[in-house]
Amino acid sequence: MRDPEFLVIGAGAAGIAAARTLTAAGREVMVLEGGPRVGGRAHTTHALGSPLDLGATWLHEANNNPLTAFAHDALNHDDVRERHLWLGSRWATPAELDDYAEAEDAFYEALAAGTEGPDRPVSEVVPSGGSWDATVRHWQGAQIQAMEVERLSTHDQVENELDDPNLLLPEGIGTLLTGLAEGLPIRLNSPVERLDWSGPGVVAEGPFGRIRAKAAIITVSTGVLSADSLRFTPELPLAHREAIDGLPMALLTKFGFRCADRLGIEPFHTIRKAVTAADPRPLSFIMWPFGRDHFFGFVGGEFAWELARAGDAATLAAGAAEFRSIFGPVELGASTLSDWGTNPLFLGSYSQARPGHAGARARLAEPVGPLLFAGEATALGLAGTVGGAWREGERAARALIAGNAL
Ligand SMILES: Cc1cc2nc3c(=O)[nH]c(=O)nc-3n(C[C@H](O)[C@H](O)[C@H](O)COP(=O)(O)OP(=O)(O)OC[C@H]3O[C@@H](n4cnc5c(N)ncnc54)[C@H](O)[C@@H]3O)c2cc1C
Repeated sequence: MRDPEFLVIGAGAAGIAAARTLTAAGREVMVLEGGPRVGGRAHTTHALGSPLDLGATWLHEANNNPLTAFAHDALNHDDVRERHLWLGSRWATPAELDDYAEAEDAFYEALAAGTEGPDRPVSEVVPSGGSWDATVRHWQGAQIQAMEVERLSTHDQVENELDDPNLLLPEGIGTLLTGLAEGLPIRLNSPVERLDWSGPGVVAEGPFGRIRAKAAIITVSTGVLSADSLRFTPELPLAHREAIDGLPMALLTKFGFRCADRLGIEPFHTIRKAVTAADPRPLSFIMWPFGRDHFFGFVGGEFAWELARAGDAATLAAGAAEFRSIFGPVELGASTLSDWGTNPLFLGSYSQARPGHAGARARLAEPVGPLLFAGEATALGLAGTVGGAWREGERAARALIAGNAL
């Protein structure tokens, strides 16, 4: 095997974007992907008989998302989604939904105001006394950011707040990325175990042997970087190690069930549950996407980690029990779920800056000798998203083309 000019570690959104940019500029690149498929945390399964994304689900902030240009048959979910909020024994009335929406607005206003002064945990700046506040905090924390508000940086959250529109893709975002990776020089099942950057250039070691290149773009998650399964020789500088430590992985687990009964809910509608003392960590559901006979659900934050440690059956049982706590003894068919928390190639769903570490993304993006880090963790503005990862892959590739990090 001939050594390439550049290496890209990982074939998720950032790796695919980096490889496309380098290839388009006529540069020689090899992508080493540890797993058996491309797409990384954007993965579409057909386990329920039709496409279902187990990772990235929406193209958020679609008017400012580099992947929108490729998503020709996308649907704006905001146009067709209606929210249903279960209060334990009945649905919230329209007036109650309005109150809930007001509490959400107050959350965002307080968050924005909270960026005055030092970076504090989100929990310290957002409202807590109102009747909907516990539900809003749970939703904006564990269920959307995949981490509790106590552990989230206010500055990072505001910097990366996502606007509408939110697009859904009928064939899935994983399918989109698989198509965008076609023809690229990607080696699957090739985990990099060690990166020697003592120079000249960089040498990647793994089951494939040793591959030398002038420079490498590293797109693995901060979970993988913290786990030491990919070792660096010499060790990364302190600033980079601190940046990685400042960007721990949150966990959002996604599951889906087939269900023949439409239960009186229209396609694309969302189901949430209010937080109560008896039910402090509810899950959420999205019903019949594209009119299909399945729904999918999310569990995020500490509850997701607990269930991931307990195993797939525990997560699916929790999902089914939550669904039936709303809809009664419904018959559920085939099921599927993600393994982002336990899969050693990811170890979480996306990164979140710790309070006081909002600058970690920019620090991680700074070149270290012949190494450039890129991915959702280094994105500023679209952090944690597939579009942000894509943009970062392009940025890192352009830096190599310009001769930086060499
Ligand atoms: C449940 C869930 C829901 C989400 N929802 C959304 C959403 O709606 N919208 C959105 O925009 N984003 C969403 N995201 C986030 C989005 O999926 C990620 O931010 C994005 O896909 C990350 O891309 P990346 O290229 O940075 O990293 P990855 O996709 O993780 O790519 C890195 C690649 O590196 C590989 N790898 C790991 N270790 C090694 C090694 N040692 N050697 C070689 N290869 C290695 C991995 O297998 C992986 O393929 C969601 C994520 C999850 C998990």
